[in-house]
Amino acid sequence: MQFGDLEVHLVNDGQVHVDVGGAFGLTPRALYRSYFDPDEQNAVPMTLNCMLVRSRGLTILVDTGLGDRLTPEETRRWRLERPDGGLLAGLQRLGVTAEDVDLVVNTHLHADHCAGNTLLQDGRLVPVFPRATYLVQRLEWAEAVNPDARTRGTYFGENYMPLLETGQLELLHGDVELTDQVRLMVTPGHTRGHQSVVLESGTWRGLFVGDMASYAAHFERTGWVTAYDVLPLESIATKERWQAWAAEQGAWLFFEHDPERPIGCLEPQAGRWKVVPPPVAASSAPPTH
Ligand SMILES: [Zn+2]
Repeated sequence: MQFGDLEVHLVNDGQVHVDVGGAFGLTPRALYRSYFDPDEQNAVPMTLNCMLVRSRGLTILVDTGLGDRLTPEETRRWRLERPDGGLLAGLQRLGVTAEDVDLVVNTHLHADHCAGNTLLQDGRLVPVFPRATYLVQRLEWAEAVNPDARTRGTYFGENYMPLLETGQLELLHGDVELTDQVRLMVTPGHTRGHQSVVLESGTWRGLFVGDMASYAAHFERTGWVTAYDVLPLESIATKERWQAWAAEQGAWLFFEHDPERPIGCLEPQAGRWKVVPPPVAASSAPPTH
């Protein structure tokens, strides 16, 4: 997708299934089942959308998916499917090689967002993107290298410690502007140092939401918080701020995990905000009767 001279693509790393208790937390089933009805394993689909941005000569990758080091048992547990071949194949279809990537942004360091940072080469873990600087918030790094009983199952050093050895890690202290079109904004809640990506081109605005709201429904209904969020009340406050911003700006929202509504804009419907297809996609959709 092209917005002026800003290029933006979602790049899919596959789809997994997760327990609905994790995805919807305290939300009653009677409410979320109109969005996602769990299957016989009590699981709902979760997609893994990374984002590629080209801006002012920089090639920027946001999040790196689940990588290729899952054991057969982990692949089964995640129920990982990659009909299109995963992140690197998706980048290749856009004409992007691993060497082309200048910056890798990790929204946070949970495994489903950064396991594709590194790969095993001749028995050694090395960065997948050899020239890239990897950008992580300092607070996120602190939590990742000191996991607690609850986060130990998702913070794995193999996904980010090799970046230290090669000098490719840059820790960020808050919001930063990568170019005049791409800004990283700290959006705390899911984790303390979670960051989202704001895109601007002319009057167009975009937001790669990350796990500020895993599914579009979490962005519509700010009180719906996943069970993984470490600061649930802060998640709600963060979403209320960004929901107001997105409504005011008419921003395009890019959801990392929503298999049904990966891209949308807010529209008022029956007294609340609803994520609907953006105007361009809507105009090319078949007429409804
Ligand atoms: Zn996630």
